[in-house]
Amino acid sequence: MTYNVSPVGFVHSCFKEKFAIPRQPHLAPAARGVLELVAPFDQGDAVQGLEQVSHVWLLFLFHQALENKPRLKVRPPRLGGNKSMGVFATRATHRPNGIGQSVVKLERVETARLWISGIDLLDGTPVLDIKPYVPYADIIGTASNSIASAAPEPVPVQWAPPALHQARDHAMRLQEPLVELIEQCLAQDPRPAYQVPTAEREYGAQFWDVDVRWHYPRPGLIRVLEVIPAKQ
Ligand code: SAM
Repeated sequence: MTYNVSPVGFVHSCFKEKFAIPRQPHLAPAARGVLELVAPFDQGDAVQGLEQVSHVWLLFLFHQALENKPRLKVRPPRLGGNKSMGVFATRATHRPNGIGQSVVKLERVETARLWISGIDLLDGTPVLDIKPYVPYADIIGTASNSIASAAPEPVPVQWAPPALHQARDHAMRLQEPLVELIEQCLAQDPRPAYQVPTAEREYGAQFWDVDVRWHYPRPGLIRVLEVIPAKQ
């Protein structure tokens, strides 16, 4: 049996590629975006009352990880990518029906746009539904998960002085908290856990319209090398 679903909107996100997106929402509060609603949800009626809500659940499609054949076991990056686990025990992107869910902060509500932050969503993500976060039902004080018991320990992030100047200039131009965004995302250590980087090896990712390059001067320390306009 199959069912059809269609997006209620699409996310314009600070994240232009999958690499360096935090693995869950709220790990980077400076990660911002806009959820643009599509017809018939873009006339204002569908969001009436939402201004009384601080956070929403987004149900979305992992549109850049869709696969025809469902996986039963996956290798979560959090476990180093070398241990497999039942797909339903993980939040892996490769999953039946490709559906993701994130609680995000609702910054502002407009007729056809929701301004959101703390996101872990790629640019262009199709959103299937939006639901208000309901603290009395959604906070479970006794909940436990020994696979992912706490947020990963953040890695210290240092700046090469010219890179910090570049980031501040781009932040002013974009009117976005770019320095914080870079620090919060890199502190999650986006590198695949199985890689042991040498100091010479450089990594890069695009945030908004800038390319950020960094390296690991020693294990457990990240240094941002440059923040330059992304190639078109
Ligand atoms: N919070 C969601 C959940 O639990 O369903 C997502 C968790 S998933 C582990 C987070 C990762 O999904 C991000 O690090 C990013 O690389 C990836 N991602 C985000 N949006 C995506 C999209 N539209 N298509 C494919 N991958 C995406």
